[in-house]
Amino acid sequence: ISNTDVVESQKICVCVRKRPLNKQENNKKEIDVVSVPGKGALLVHEPKTKVDLTKYLENQSFQFDYSFDENATNDMVYKFTAKPLVKSIFEGGMATCFAYGQTGSGKTHTMGGDFSGKQQNSAKGIYALATQDVFIYLKHWRYTNLDLCVYASFFEIYNGKVYDLLNKKAKLRVLEDERQQVQVVGLEEIYVTSADDVIKLIQTGSACRTSGQTSANANSSRSHAILQIVLRRSDRNSTLHGKFSLVDLAGNERGTDVNSNDRCTLVETTEINRSLLALKECIRSLGKNSDHIPFRMSTLTKVLRDSFIGEKSRTCMIAMVSPSMASCEYTMNTLRYADRVKEL
Ligand code: ADP
Ligand code: MG
Repeated sequence: ISNTDVVESQKICVCVRKRPLNKQENNKKEIDVVSVPGKGALLVHEPKTKVDLTKYLENQSFQFDYSFDENATNDMVYKFTAKPLVKSIFEGGMATCFAYGQTGSGKTHTMGGDFSGKQQNSAKGIYALATQDVFIYLKHWRYTNLDLCVYASFFEIYNGKVYDLLNKKAKLRVLEDERQQVQVVGLEEIYVTSADDVIKLIQTGSACRTSGQTSANANSSRSHAILQIVLRRSDRNSTLHGKFSLVDLAGNERGTDVNSNDRCTLVETTEINRSLLALKECIRSLGKNSDHIPFRMSTLTKVLRDSFIGEKSRTCMIAMVSPSMASCEYTMNTLRYADRVKEL
């Protein structure tokens, strides 16, 4: 049994990824306070002050399914997180992969990759890598009697409202019917035949996500972006077969923590907190096979309702952390959250 098989058989996988110190942080001689000893372990050397004002570092240790250090590539992270879930959507399951963490910790780098220029392999993010594998699986699937088609949707949730990134940011309504089925009314679902098709859609959608903003990160750090790769049966009126949701979550920092010219409004902060809390509770109920899923707590969990139910649902969370001492408090918050998601 290989390592990735373990993830495949688990309903919930929680990992952590540490990014390298960046140029500015190196220039400022920031100290790296996060170390990754391996085998899913992660250590934070948290700065503390005694009552007599002497400063010291206290080691906080965490244990996850996998931990990735600053040398890990997107490819490697993908292999142990989202890749094992691709199979489950062909088996009729709902798979989800979340990137969680403070703004600037590497969520978009991990999920979207680098979109400047044509995507080279090293620059590819989980969106592109997972899509590639979906089409590889599909090729083999053709030899079975079930004919499947692939569709893609890409939308954003900002302040509890859904905006279609593949249709000029059209504002969409979320409706729930009497059988608790949730629908995003009018969401574009585009038929795709290759990974390149999807990459083009992501490029268009990502440009749409940040357009009109003075600061590139301003709006996108406060919204959740969701790419969905949908499998539908071509024989039976396009019945839903399986779905992979890849989610670049809003930054988990608190309003007052963000630098002053880019501060979250109270409404934004409240909404983000509510949705991240709801997400944690919903993933935990999936892990416990609980009948009660508190999905109505937020728009994010409403639109992902299907992901939290069923035998075949699989979820993976990648908690991103920045290594700098200046970010230590946010890093600790991120790790505590990830820890709670995992703990049953
Ligand atoms: P977030 O989406 O969490 O706000 P980003 O993904 O935009 O953060 O990352 C912030 C910056 O750090 C970007 O310039 C990104 O390219 C860089 N970065 C993030 N993670 C890594 C990594 N693992 N290796 C190299 N650079 C990274
Ligand atoms: Mg981002």
